[in-house]
Amino acid sequence: MTRDPCSGANNVLLGRSVKELEEWAVGNGQASFRGRQLHDWLYNKAVDDIDGITVFPKQWRDDLLEKGFTLGRLEELTRVVAEDSTLKLLLATKDGENIETVGIPTENRLTVCVSSQVGCPMACRFCATGKGGFQRSLALHEMVAQVLSVREAMNRRPSNVVFMGMGEPLLNIQQVLGAIRCINNELGVGQRKITVSTVGVPNTLPNLAEQAQKILGRAQFTLAVSLHAPNQELREEIIPTASTYPFENLLEDCRRYFALTGRRVSYEYILLGGLNDTKEHAMELADRLIGSQSHVNLIAYNPIDDAEFKRPSVRSIGSFKRLLEQKGIKVSLRASRGLDKNAACGQLRRQQGKAF
Ligand code: SF4
Repeated sequence: MTRDPCSGANNVLLGRSVKELEEWAVGNGQASFRGRQLHDWLYNKAVDDIDGITVFPKQWRDDLLEKGFTLGRLEELTRVVAEDSTLKLLLATKDGENIETVGIPTENRLTVCVSSQVGCPMACRFCATGKGGFQRSLALHEMVAQVLSVREAMNRRPSNVVFMGMGEPLLNIQQVLGAIRCINNELGVGQRKITVSTVGVPNTLPNLAEQAQKILGRAQFTLAVSLHAPNQELREEIIPTASTYPFENLLEDCRRYFALTGRRVSYEYILLGGLNDTKEHAMELADRLIGSQSHVNLIAYNPIDDAEFKRPSVRSIGSFKRLLEQKGIKVSLRASRGLDKNAACGQLRRQQGKAF
């Protein structure tokens, strides 16, 4: 059987398409319909181990386990639910790493916030994950498994997926795109309902556009680029790794990404009280973005335990937003969710003492 490089580890079954599962079944001495059965149990019935696939003959299940095959699901370690019903899961990988996944429900949608790495090497100063260092990138099945875990825990089909959990997705492009393909094709989440969020890695945006065309046919997911500052100096203060990626080059790469994909880039801006939330910052940001196909998503900072930054005041949030709008920039304010249950990226894992 020819394996697609985006299809994950050889002994892991989650993440594969129906065609790949049919080929796998035939390669393992069975009729191809066994592959279709497996597809149904993996993605619809969401079984979590091979022995649970009771339509398979017991002898074959034992053989598969003997050969080291695994479905690739993650073990749930901790579950917390906030008063607004935001769900946060701490999940364990097979090699004993811990990752976080969040389910954010509203009346009309369920958004799953997926981690793409264990830890993160980008070390953004406001982020709990960034403070814990980097262990490894996640395989595509480990990202798909997060969506399934939230679906089961909330007993509801996810409508949206955002790669905004732990990790920098553009340091794991192939696996993230493979996960998007699977979440789109096998779990039925439309590509336009999927967002990939990056803090910016030099020379990766044109490659992301090219790889997306190759793997997904078309890049239709939303690219969200975290700016968090209106200029290079302040950006480096907040995101130390930004020193390798001049502000103008990042904006130029975003314009190029739009030219290659036709998809408007969304700019994320976390408002840190007294640091990047003044009127002057808003004016400077507007000047940098005027004329580009963009949208600014403002996020009010959610303090972590040993926070060196402050939450912005309600007044500064309002005036920042108004100033951008007056300059003709499309802007939205992301509502804070699950503040009472440590919903910010990396906080639960940190509490469990696994981030250090
Ligand atoms: S904000 Fe994102 S990119 Fe920055 S350290 Fe945290 S997980 Fe990594």
